[in-house]
Amino acid sequence: MEKIYLYNTLSRRKEEFKSIKNKFVGLYTCGPTVYNFAHLGNLRTYLFEDLLKRTLVYNGYQVKHVMNITDVGHLTGDMNMGEDKIESGAKREGKTAWEIADFYTQAFKQDLNKLNIGFPDIWCLASQHIKEQIALIKNLEKKNYTYITKDGVYFNTALISNYNKLSHLPLKQLKEGARVEKNPEKKNPTDFALWKFSKPVGKRQMEWDSPWGVGFPGWHLECSAMSLKYLSDNLDIHCGGIDHINIHHTNEIAQSEAATEKKFFNYWLHGAFLNISGGKKMAKSGNNFLTLKSALEDKGIDPLAYRLAACQVHYRKMMEYSFKSLQQAQNSLRNLKLAVAALGEESGTINLNFQTKFRQVVNNDLNIPQALALISQVLKARMEDKDKRATILDFDRILGLDLDKAEKKREVIKPWGEEIRTLGLEIDKEMKALLSAREKARADKDWTRADKIRAEIVSRGFILEDVPEGQKLVVKNDEK
Ligand code: AMP
Ligand code: ZN
Repeated sequence: MEKIYLYNTLSRRKEEFKSIKNKFVGLYTCGPTVYNFAHLGNLRTYLFEDLLKRTLVYNGYQVKHVMNITDVGHLTGDMNMGEDKIESGAKREGKTAWEIADFYTQAFKQDLNKLNIGFPDIWCLASQHIKEQIALIKNLEKKNYTYITKDGVYFNTALISNYNKLSHLPLKQLKEGARVEKNPEKKNPTDFALWKFSKPVGKRQMEWDSPWGVGFPGWHLECSAMSLKYLSDNLDIHCGGIDHINIHHTNEIAQSEAATEKKFFNYWLHGAFLNISGGKKMAKSGNNFLTLKSALEDKGIDPLAYRLAACQVHYRKMMEYSFKSLQQAQNSLRNLKLAVAALGEESGTINLNFQTKFRQVVNNDLNIPQALALISQVLKARMEDKDKRATILDFDRILGLDLDKAEKKREVIKPWGEEIRTLGLEIDKEMKALLSAREKARADKDWTRADKIRAEIVSRGFILEDVPEGQKLVVKNDEK
């Protein structure tokens, strides 16, 4: 088997990947909190995890992939305070917490499908693993890691000698970070809730009995309980976005290792953020919340153009969002698909030389940008077209760009009396002016002028149709 190197946040080094069992990998990826749609930033992290999983499979590993769905316990304060995000989503939309969780779980799955992100082998819901979470707290309680306050059962982080082993931050700094939360009953600022009690007023929708009182599990607990349940002997790789390093994953490690007295996951991989306008993280709160639908589909951009855009930036580098870069990615995807289509339908033999190069770059901590560059080298190489096709489609097993499928149609609509909508097809100012002028000529019943403008538009390589909604424009060779 070829060697794979992965950057491990635990050691802050690229390490040769060695699975616990031969040719088998246990992979746990922290899943969504289902109180809203996933935004493009969240999806970037799931894309990176998909590229990792495909790389492992490409190298002959069988991967057991587990992903949680956080449908209870994630508080708006991200630590131990604030409202449960699912319950507040339910209030916002006038639905039950279960309806909210179910609706956004389905929406999340649809997004994954659109981005060719493979589903995990096991989806696990926090609300369906209360028994396991209570058992974990009991275990920690027996070992004296817990204490009880008015609002819940807490984990005492001061008892963990290497609490900062993932974050690599001085303890003082971790404590400073945790101090934003003012809870006088906590013994240490970094202590976190394992179980929160329901408040005496304002009944929660999701709550359960426990040996300590009615309430619900803390957010970090679910990932420990479920990964230990489903991957007990295969704690190979655990992933998430970089925001999880200092709190969520640090706490998962602390409580799991305290409970099992064994190492909890050998490799920790973290994806960098998608930022928006001047280095601000895309987040679910605030007005920089862009979904697959609002940022791409409503604008006629193929979701796979976002997959390509994410492939162009290494997963550990910050990615900057701009609509322009999505349009460029859409054009690049289109050109790639056209280039593959031009190679014909017949599939030949994979070029082993290129395959080796490809494997080397992807196995080097998922250098997908370099892997993409290899496609143009294959296209330029002295090889039979059918072999080029076979080689590129072999790369696509990891890239997941559907390079052998025709691209979705792109068009421009000028609805009668409204702004032009460019649905994945960019046109210049002059073309926009021509469409508006033709609409005006039609409104004035100046048919000669309207026809003249139509001829001008068509002469530029477009097909122009009058549909009930308005004028529809497509590029001539896009028409099929
Ligand atoms: P959440 O649904 O908020 O729990 O987040 C789901 C995943 O998205 C986690 O792995 C986060 O680390 C990740 N994430 C959140 N915001 C961003 C962002 N702007 N860019 C990349 N990943 C993000
Ligand atoms: Zn998690």
